[in-house]
Amino acid sequence: MGYQVMRGVGTTGVVGLLTGAQRGERTVLLRFDMDALPIQEENEVPYRSQTAGVMHACGHDAHVAAGLGVAKLLVRHQAELPGTVKLMFQPAEEIIEGAEAMIADGVLEQPHVDVALGLHVSSMVPLGTAVVHSGPLLAGGDLFEIVVRGRGGHGAQPHETIDPVVVAGHIIVALQSIVSRNVNPEEMGVVTIGSIHAGQAGNVIADTVTMSGTIRSFNREVHLLLRRRIEELVTGVTAAFGAQADLTISMAVEPTINAPGPSAVVERVAGEILGVQQIDTMGRTMAGEDFSAVLARIPGNFFFLGAGNAALGLNHPHHSAHFDIDEACLPAGVAILCEAAVRCLRGEGESAR
Ligand SMILES: [Zn+2]
Ligand SMILES: [Zn+2]
Repeated sequence: MGYQVMRGVGTTGVVGLLTGAQRGERTVLLRFDMDALPIQEENEVPYRSQTAGVMHACGHDAHVAAGLGVAKLLVRHQAELPGTVKLMFQPAEEIIEGAEAMIADGVLEQPHVDVALGLHVSSMVPLGTAVVHSGPLLAGGDLFEIVVRGRGGHGAQPHETIDPVVVAGHIIVALQSIVSRNVNPEEMGVVTIGSIHAGQAGNVIADTVTMSGTIRSFNREVHLLLRRRIEELVTGVTAAFGAQADLTISMAVEPTINAPGPSAVVERVAGEILGVQQIDTMGRTMAGEDFSAVLARIPGNFFFLGAGNAALGLNHPHHSAHFDIDEACLPAGVAILCEAAVRCLRGEGESAR
């Protein structure tokens, strides 16, 4: 299309660079993630996944399509373009590695990026609308694992054992008090235990229980509070039952925080294209997104483009084997990104960012 293309950025990432004919000093980065998920697609459509066990269940294929649409439209207006546009086609979003890998390979430099924009289609948001938010849009989170060590034995002789299953039960209940009793009600947090494994037989008391979960929050104070209370409760409950526990907490993803200036630009443009009343400025979600790594370094905006259509059955949740979107959302997504990029190149939203 006339772009300067760099391949192999952050393993399989691709970067396209377009310098406008109107000299401008700014560079705007537009990011499109491209990865699929290890899910067997159950949709019976002509465009279903051709690879068994691998499916575009989050809509990142639509993001690549939007990115190529943006590339086409911008190059057609290269003569009027007041600066440089950098298109970032990113792998490995779902495992929260791709953005960091591309940053490590220099995607934010040469030329230095001034503003970063991105979108995510959403089957949960109606077609013709968008969620454009200033401030935290998506949560940051950690993954944690708890291994409770007791002393196993015969299921009929519990007094000879330290039953880790009973201890794990108390830990699970105690952890649910963190959000309800420790987090300020005006803030938000999530503590989820998603897996628990112990034992092989109903008449045997196990030696250990392994549980894993995730915590989510929109800011650092709540994040640190969740971490601290998990440690205290696991240690205290385990000690009370005479058992032991190993707790490991690992950082998963930072919160996705939109800057006021670029967010105002995207909100204005989205309102002009979709209609002001079609823009939801309050919506946000506890899911995570690795574009947060870019927005932690560069002011920008990440927004949700409505792609759901209940009348056509296109409203299954993301990561479902039935996930699909209404592709009629794509032209508006392309238009919003192109116009917002051009206005950011002109310096709109600069003072407020
Ligand atoms: Zn996803
Ligand atoms: Zn996604």
